[in-house]
Amino acid sequence: MEHYLDNSATTRTCPEAAEAAVRVMSDIYGNPSSTYTKGREAAGLLRECREAVSAALGAKSEEVVFTSCGTESDNWAIIRGAESLSRSGRHVISSLTEHDAVRESLNFLEKNGFEITRLRPDSTGRIMPEQVLDALRPDTVLVTLMMVNNETGAVTDIADICSRLRGTGYRGLIHTDAVQGFMKVPFRAKDLGADLISVSGHKIHAVKGIGALYIRKGIRLLPYIMGGHQEDGRRAGTEAMPAIAAFAEACRQDPRIGYIRALKDDLAARIAAKVPEALILETEAPHILSISMPGWRSEVLMNHLETAGVYVSKSSACRQGKRSHVLEAIGMPADVIDGALRIGLCRYNTQEDLDALIDGLVSARALAHGRR
Ligand code: PLP
Repeated sequence: MEHYLDNSATTRTCPEAAEAAVRVMSDIYGNPSSTYTKGREAAGLLRECREAVSAALGAKSEEVVFTSCGTESDNWAIIRGAESLSRSGRHVISSLTEHDAVRESLNFLEKNGFEITRLRPDSTGRIMPEQVLDALRPDTVLVTLMMVNNETGAVTDIADICSRLRGTGYRGLIHTDAVQGFMKVPFRAKDLGADLISVSGHKIHAVKGIGALYIRKGIRLLPYIMGGHQEDGRRAGTEAMPAIAAFAEACRQDPRIGYIRALKDDLAARIAAKVPEALILETEAPHILSISMPGWRSEVLMNHLETAGVYVSKSSACRQGKRSHVLEAIGMPADVIDGALRIGLCRYNTQEDLDALIDGLVSARALAHGRR
């Protein structure tokens, strides 16, 4: 029996999204740029898909550009965003706990003459508006902060940060990496106040290899991928129609956030009761629970859990082999970081999955006590 509890690394494609992708591959397979009927049919579907994704984002459909993944959206927003305003200044504000897609974009900017202020979050991973305002300078051209931390589930109040920034008269760009927030922490792009928002399909039961960048109306962002005139000249390359159709279908589904949150609360309470030595990080995102068994190694726990078909991850799936920069930045001691596990919940998880995880943690502990 499989108990997949690593839904922040990726999710199972939902049946509706899989069917939509197959329909495009076998039936509506024309190139949306072709002018004959088969192409126009695909172009019509592309329009409908963009409407579905923009509705889920709370944006206008012309504000949504399809990309290949969240990483591309982050690279594009941050690098081209900062470059587009470099005549006004070369200072960027971000945090120490961003995903590598953002961190590497910032490193690139730094090598190219930008100065980056990386804010230290609180003990769960949140950045407070006051910190952003304190770091603001006349030459700040971009603020980029993640909405939900992918390792801890900490939620940064992007709407508040945007409104306070604008209240100072700040005229630079605001980007948020909402890859872990989209369809989990409700927001409407038009109310959020960010100029650029990155999202990804495979975290919401679409398929891998599809993302989107929200570009607020009026923002001019030079392309990052160059070539043809797809996506209104903003992002070249024949549109990945099967993945786009899957993404749109995933956006049309009920995300069942309340159900996921109830699972998380229940899981946290049961871990506290059954595995009292486990440390539980309290965060607001409904789907991410970060725990640690100090004195253990995450890999050992993961391997033990896997024997019972339970899949969780160390901290982030992208950082295999390295100590988590996120947990370090929030000030966790080394033994807590080394015993950390991230549990990522989704609407397909059940009580049986939670039972299997708890049984696995309890039996790991019993084995360890037996060896002493
Ligand atoms: N940003 C965050 C917060 C993520 O969790 C991830 C993926 O784990 C990404 C960006 C990258 O998204 P993708 O895997 O679609 O490139």
